[in-house]
Amino acid sequence: MLTVEDLTVAFGPTVAVRGVDLHAEPGTVTGILGANGAGKTTTLLGVHGRVRRRSGRILFDGRDVTGDDTRALVRAGIALCPENRRLFPNMSIEDNLLLGAYGHGRRTQRARLADVLGRFAWLRERAGEPAGRLSGGQQQIVAIARALMSHPRLVLLDEPSSGLSPVAVDEIGDVLAGIAADGTTILLVEQNVRLVQRLCSTAYVLAHGRVAAQGPVSTLLADSAVSDAYLGTT
Ligand code: ATP
Repeated sequence: MLTVEDLTVAFGPTVAVRGVDLHAEPGTVTGILGANGAGKTTTLLGVHGRVRRRSGRILFDGRDVTGDDTRALVRAGIALCPENRRLFPNMSIEDNLLLGAYGHGRRTQRARLADVLGRFAWLRERAGEPAGRLSGGQQQIVAIARALMSHPRLVLLDEPSSGLSPVAVDEIGDVLAGIAADGTTILLVEQNVRLVQRLCSTAYVLAHGRVAAQGPVSTLLADSAVSDAYLGTT
């Protein structure tokens, strides 16, 4: 589904991601773990063409999309749900969602909105309210729903658990499990080990911009050298 080869991203003299290779199988949730500043967000942004790559090849469904810009990648079926949700708090939930289908005709936008609101019935009730009135967990669900508005086959998801209570994190876990069960592939940046354990089959551990470890999540978490050094699980 997604293959990333030799991705390198630098911000001036700071090399944030160095030669990262990764692969996400269709219909799975693949984790990207690692400490603060390890390069997780930059990896997602690099895949999605939102930062300039110094090197790297991106293959999506067997097609080389390296030269595609973010807009083309969204059209090809890759959506990003960014860190900190990035909603417009004063805009209605509905208008926030419609931004996820930006560039499509009105009929398509309306059809997708109906689809997404069908999945989250409570959102339909509140669609006219400002997004900022929702709890953090609810806002995260709106951010995920906005990503779904582009009908992605792959969602790049950046720290959905950030700042949420354990109960809200469990709810996000339910939502993501449902999306994955429908066959949507997810590449999940996450520091919440419990959420990773629940959702991901395999994961990559980044450290200082490189892949420090990779494999089945159960194996990675059982390896105390990996979890002590990079995941802060002790
Ligand atoms: P966090 O969990 O804190 O979000 P992360 O693993 O996602 O961390 P990145 O945000 O990808 O890490 O950052 C990797 C490195 O690149 C860090 O040293 C960071 O300071 C640097 N960096 C990220 N974005 C920029 C930028 N726009 N300009 C300069 N340096 C940046």
